Amino acid sequence: MTERDSWEVDANCRDINVNTFFGTADQQQAATTICQPCPVRNACLDYALTRNMEYGVWGGHTQDQLHTLRRRQQRATRSRRR
Ligand code: SF4
Repeated sequence: MTERDSWEVDANCRDINVNTFFGTADQQQAATTICQPCPVRNACLDYALTRNMEYGVWGGHTQDQLHTLRRRQQRATRSRRR
């Protein structure tokens, strides 16, 4: 079992078509409602951020929200190095 598998088995989306999480911005926003009560939401978000996942919904965030979050993290990292 891989690291991802260890949390993926508890995912709310485990029996949902993956395309649900890779649609338009509106479709992704709707898909985040599946994530809200997901018990592995934090692990899913960490997975996406550490692996630079560019597309789809991860950890209750649309891909646009993930891009924003990643940019904030990068800015915070850069300012800590100064
Ligand atoms: S947070 Fe959303 S995308 Fe991530 S495992 Fe849970 S239901 Fe799936």
